[in-house]
Amino acid sequence: MTDKTFDIVIVGAGIVGATLARELSAYSLRVAVIDKASDIPSGASRANSAMIHAGYDDQPGTIKADFCPIGNRLYHELAAPLDFTLKECGSYVCGFDDDDRIHLEKLLEQGRANRVPGLEIISGETLRRREPYASGDITHALRAPTGAVINNFEAVLAFIDNAQQNGVELFLETELKDLLLSADGAEVVGVATNRGRLFAPVVVNAAGVYSDLVARMAGDDSFFIRPTRGEYYIMDKRIGSLVNSFFFACPTPKGKGITVAPTAENNLLIGPTSIVQPGRDDTSTTADGLAEVIDGARRLIPSIPLNMAITAFSGLRANPDTKDFIVNVLERPLGFVNAAGIKSPGFTSAPAIACHLVELMKDRLAKRISFIPDPTFIPERKHTPRFEMLSLEEKRRLAEADPRYAQIVCRCEMVTEGQIVEAITRGARTVAAVKIWTRAGAGRCQGGFCGPRVVDILARELGVSCEEITRHGGHSRYLVGKTKDYWFRGEN
Ligand SMILES: Cc1cc2nc3c(=O)[nH]c(=O)nc-3n(C[C@H](O)[C@H](O)[C@H](O)COP(=O)(O)OP(=O)(O)OC[C@H]3O[C@@H](n4cnc5c(N)ncnc54)[C@H](O)[C@@H]3O)c2cc1C
Repeated sequence: MTDKTFDIVIVGAGIVGATLARELSAYSLRVAVIDKASDIPSGASRANSAMIHAGYDDQPGTIKADFCPIGNRLYHELAAPLDFTLKECGSYVCGFDDDDRIHLEKLLEQGRANRVPGLEIISGETLRRREPYASGDITHALRAPTGAVINNFEAVLAFIDNAQQNGVELFLETELKDLLLSADGAEVVGVATNRGRLFAPVVVNAAGVYSDLVARMAGDDSFFIRPTRGEYYIMDKRIGSLVNSFFFACPTPKGKGITVAPTAENNLLIGPTSIVQPGRDDTSTTADGLAEVIDGARRLIPSIPLNMAITAFSGLRANPDTKDFIVNVLERPLGFVNAAGIKSPGFTSAPAIACHLVELMKDRLAKRISFIPDPTFIPERKHTPRFEMLSLEEKRRLAEADPRYAQIVCRCEMVTEGQIVEAITRGARTVAAVKIWTRAGAGRCQGGFCGPRVVDILARELGVSCEEITRHGGHSRYLVGKTKDYWFRGEN
């Protein structure tokens, strides 16, 4: 990458960077998004509960409380034009005794102050009539009908994809190394990356768990991030219908606690834990963490069978010491914008943060960039076909037009060769990116059967050898050579 010039560089292609890029793409601006990862979403936007929160959790007057209900509404509005999966399942916060009942009343009041529609407290009996597997120990529950579950992979892709359609440039495997400042340090002039420099009068820090370190480059040490890990199990679709809604227990000072939730694809998700750790990249899982997940989940839904777990994973929250989102434009260096410390409900709030940031930039950075609406802006896009969800007639039509849609590659999720080829055409370069686009490898066998076929198709379509295909970039190669070569080498 040679030196290039833009109006705005966004550091981080998580949901915050993606929604902002899409919002900015409605103006005649040259926008670049850089991310050090090989595929997106990476970071917290990849590994979370995928809940579009209703907005009763946060204290009125906080930035979170303002943005969460607006973000919720925006997702409902944008799911169809941007073609990402959102299920309107609602949520329950469950109470087990009188103290919890008082807590639920407080959440109800808070939610009403935050203008969350439709909240009500129901009895345990009413809950169990709607949700027969809910624990008999639950005495009351706060119902929030506007809570929803989303396919978080699809949502990030949708915003970035639409932004790219409208001219935004995405640079993957591009790591911010330093901020470029004017000689007197008063103004931002661009970024230095591992792949060259990008010049721009405005740089947005949307670097998630690294956002405090990026802010330090601008001399901003007003907050620090404590990475906080959340571990999960994903359970088989066969028990996906144990719950119809998102289940929470009453929150504790550590957070919202272990939840039980249907996923957008009808699996069951249980977790997360909340463990503060020093490492910003360690997303391993632990026996203790997963045991806590099971205990917490069974408190809500006692009949969850452990043998239905198909995989475990963890995500890292960008937990700021300020306890609220950091969304601001610095006075010095002028042109530096923070969208930092975006912890939960950050996924939900992201579209609202994006709209707010655009207004803030229009107001504070008018001398550096001009916000002229782009008359050619296209507000919608289409995802690759979701073969499994199509009617027989639609499947037949697709397969007739392109026989690769008649070749099932991933048997668990019914993903066809046609979908995988289209994902590659639209930017997927790794096995993880193919999974993110199509769900190939996301099913019961976790890629045990389709993994080698996906590597093969990637190699064929990209015109490289199978040995060059990686799981998620860097050194994560699947194949290092032919078994017999190694066997003979061993003999020597
Ligand atoms: C366990 C867990 C559960 C959660 N559950 C929910 C939920 O149910 N609902 C909800 O609303 N929110 C939830 N959240 C919060 C939500 O996931 C986050 O608020 C949101 O994803 C943050 O998005 P982001 O874009 O700020 O950060 P990220 O998604 O982390 O993106 C930051 C990006 O910056 C890139 N980056 C970092 N440093 C650099 C650099 N130097 N150069 C280039 N790129 C860089 C990273 O590679 C990454 O892609 C949860 C979070 C976790 C961890």
